[in-house]
Amino acid sequence: MKLVFATHNSNKLKEIQQLVPEFIELVSLDTIGCTEEIPETAKTLEGNAKIKADYVTKNHKLPCFADDTGLLVNSLNGEPGIYSARYAGPQNDSQANMTKLLSNLIGKNDRSAHFKTVIALNLNGETHIFEGIIDGEIIEDKKGKNGFGYDPIFVPNGYNETFAQLPLSVKNDISHRGQAFKKLIAYLNNINVTGQK
Ligand code: IMP
Repeated sequence: MKLVFATHNSNKLKEIQQLVPEFIELVSLDTIGCTEEIPETAKTLEGNAKIKADYVTKNHKLPCFADDTGLLVNSLNGEPGIYSARYAGPQNDSQANMTKLLSNLIGKNDRSAHFKTVIALNLNGETHIFEGIIDGEIIEDKKGKNGFGYDPIFVPNGYNETFAQLPLSVKNDISHRGQAFKKLIAYLNNINVTGQK
């Protein structure tokens, strides 16, 4: 069974392909000829994940899953949230995004935050939602070289290092994305070969 992962990133696709059952052939947006930018116009991560999955299922008549992630900071009313990639502007610059966030947190006592990933899966005419959340704190200075995005300023609860200092294997095991994908994979591993749950 072909299942579209709504991404253009072939490395992400290969990583997940190794974890899904053999009867599922994961294909990327590029493989199915979906090269257009799908507009993410919803106000929530779940809404945007659904928009992407629905776009593919409607236009390409294929089962599909899509993910969307954001960093939600409590004292900033959940900012940057759905705007995490473009917090400091459309150029999607991680350094500028972190600088803006650190500046908005000056003088705030509460620096608690969480990353959240939502996956929407369209399969057999139904939509299934899988979520992963990791709680932590935004520190005052950037630390570490691994990872991407806001990793250098996010320390997960129970750890003393940022996501950018922790080994990638540790991050992947506990992260928002790791948790959401584990739930998706558990679900797919539970489907029998006819595709019926
Ligand atoms: P996406 O939905 O996976 O593209 O994530 C949107 C934005 O959230 C990214 O551009 C990053 O700025 C941020 N982000 C997502 N996941 C992570 C992460 O694991 N660490 C740090 N930042 C992240």
